[in-house]
Formats: sequence, structure tokens, C-alpha cells
Amino acid sequence: MNPTRQTQGTDDRGAEAAAAVDRFGRPLRDLRISVTDRCNFRCRYCMPREVFGPDFTFLPRDQILSFEEIALVARASASLGVRKVRLTGGEPLLRAELPRLVAMLAGVSGLEVALTTNGSLLAQQARALAEAGLGRVTVSLDSLDDGIFREMNDASFPVRLVLEGIEAAARAGLSPVKVNAVVRRGVNDHTAVELARHFHGSGHVLRFIEYMDVGTTNGWRLDDVVPAREILAAVDRELPLEAIEPAYRGEVARRYRYRDGGGEVGFITSVTQPFCGDCTRARLSAEGVLYTCLFAAAGTDLREPLRSGSGEAELRELLGRVWSVREDRYSEQRSAETAGLPRVEMSYIGG
Ligand code: SAM
Ligand code: SF4
Ligand code: SF4
Repeated sequence: MNPTRQTQGTDDRGAEAAAAVDRFGRPLRDLRISVTDRCNFRCRYCMPREVFGPDFTFLPRDQILSFEEIALVARASASLGVRKVRLTGGEPLLRAELPRLVAMLAGVSGLEVALTTNGSLLAQQARALAEAGLGRVTVSLDSLDDGIFREMNDASFPVRLVLEGIEAAARAGLSPVKVNAVVRRGVNDHTAVELARHFHGSGHVLRFIEYMDVGTTNGWRLDDVVPAREILAAVDRELPLEAIEPAYRGEVARRYRYRDGGGEVGFITSVTQPFCGDCTRARLSAEGVLYTCLFAAAGTDLREPLRSGSGEAELRELLGRVWSVREDRYSEQRSAETAGLPRVEMSYIGG
């Protein structure tokens, strides 16, 4: 079967793209690239210290894809319809010379380059990243309160410095900066409205994320999830909201705007209102394994073909084949039966 077909009409850049389409008709539009499995935080919902402690073995340098290898995968993906790559991790700003990779990716025609970071090193790097061609940045920040921040992220890092990173990114032209807050019942849910108040009118877009059962190490329980509609109702009581349309197909956040003109806020409802039907994302781990779902247990190794001489055409063919048989829709199937299934860790493929 030919894994690609012409898309109907034109895409949002006006160019006819030969897009890969999966078994449910979902095009391949986004590629998330993890550039490292290491992190300087130990968020309890992602890399709990009991598992990711001093004895944990991270990937050795030679098993991690080089910038040249990543750029080759990105070029092959772009020719299959990918329009946005998002650099992630672990913590992507720990990867040396990241602006060099950003420049290589920004040089691929039709590709927007975005980054998700915990913000701890952003103040120092924002300008160089923007100058290299970074288009957008998302900063994770779960609470404005240092004590609660520490409970969520298990890092002795002042919130003030993350806020400085957000401001530095905006000054460097990376606005609107998106700010992601994972909400956990009984830990930071009571500070959600305060976060909304802080970013209301700031020009940054706060998005609340439902705590997900990614990986197998975070001890996730459904009781820990605060349904987004609860947070929405709490914010709406203080700062009235109205729903707005998604900006594009596959946008993960449900968007709202403040009725007083104070900007936007979003809700990522992966648990209570899954959005698999519009999921256009593939994920590449730091060691070069391609996953077609955040909750996948296995992926397709691209490093071996990359290191045995495959070029862009061979990679394109391989990626297209993998995407053409994709049937993932984990969040729509989430149930008691899926709870015990093996799946990849979030810090390995980057969310
Ligand atoms: N280290 C970077 C950061 O924290 O932004 C990038 C990687 S992190 C894995 C990407 C995103 O996944 C972050 O916004 C983080 O809050 C989110 N995340 C991690 N574990 C999660 C979970 N169990 N449920 C929901 N979101 C999660
Ligand atoms: Fe690190 Fe990001 Fe995972 Fe937190 S969510 S442990 S900052 S990779
Ligand atoms: Fe996409 Fe898998 Fe998440 Fe569904 S569960 S939205 S298919 S990554």
C-alpha cells in the first residue's frame, strides 16, 4: 500500500503537501523530538526520584542521535507533511549547543520549530534560541508557590527564576509564551486560580493539563486527576471565560478567552475528554525510536537505519509505512484493562 496520498485542498501554507495518513485518516503533522533523557528536575508525575535516583542509568552519549541524524529525520518527516517539530526531553536545554540544532531544523522548508522546557535555563538561552530560528516556547510551571512547586517538581529551584525565563523568552520575541501547569488533586489544585490570575493580561497563555497515566513509574491514580472542567469552573467564577475555536486541527488544548480581554487560557483534557481522533503527532526518543502514541509500549528504531547509511528517501519510506498502519487511540480506550499495560516513560519521549 502506498503510505502517502495527496491531501484534499491546500494546507495552511497554501502548498499542496503529500501527507502521510494513518488508518483513521489522521495526517502526520507534528513531530516531537526528545534531545535528551536527562533532567535537572524530578517531577513526581514524570521522573520520581525513587526510580530516577543516583543509580539510574541514562543513555550514553553515543546512543543518542546526533544533530545531523535528527535533522535528517526532520527533513524526511517534513516531506510527509510534518509542519511543526517540538524539541523536548528530559530537559532539552541540558543538551549542549541546542541553538545549533534549532538552526538546522529552522532551515528545513515549511517547518516551524518549537520547544518545551522546565524554564530553569531559559533566561540564559532564550535569545540564542530565538536568533537560531526558534518560533515558539512552552514553559512548564505548576505553581507560583515555592513550597508547592517543590512538592510537584522535587527540585530546589525558585519559581522566580522560571518566571524570569518566561519574560526573557517574550523579550526575545518568542511570544505568546505558553505556560503548562499539570494539576494534581490535593497537591497544587488549590493554587490553579492564582496561576490564572498571574497570567491574566500578561500576554502569555496558561494551559492546565490533566495529570496523565504516562509511563509506569509515577503511581498514577484516577483519584489524583482534577477534571479540567473543575478548574475551568473555578477560574470562570473569578475571571469570566468564553470558549473559542481551535486554531487548527489537532490542537490539544481547549481554548477559552477572558471576557474582559485579558487574553487566553487553555485546558488539556487528555483524561476526561480525550482527543485521539485529531491526534497528528509522532514522537522521536533521544536514542532514535519513533513512537506513534504517547502511551505506546514499543516503537520503530530509526537509529540503526540512520547509522547504516539510509538517506532521506529511505527514511521517508520507513516513516510513511509506520504512519500508514497507525491505529493508536489509547486515551479513548483508557480503562481498567489498560492500567497495567507496559508503556514508555514520559521523560524518554518528552510528552
Ligand atoms: N522537561 C520539559 C518540561 O518539563 O517542560 C520537557 C519535557 S516534559 C516530559 C513535557 C511536558 O510533559 C511538561 O509540560 C510536563 O509538565 C508534562 N508532563 C510530564 N508528566 C506528565 C504527566 N504525568 N501528566 C501530564 N503531563 C505531564
Ligand atoms: Fe523533567 Fe520535564 Fe519530566 Fe519535570 S516534566 S521531570 S522537568 S522532563
Ligand atoms: Fe494521540 Fe495516543 Fe494521546 Fe490518543 S493517546 S491523543 S493517539 S498520543
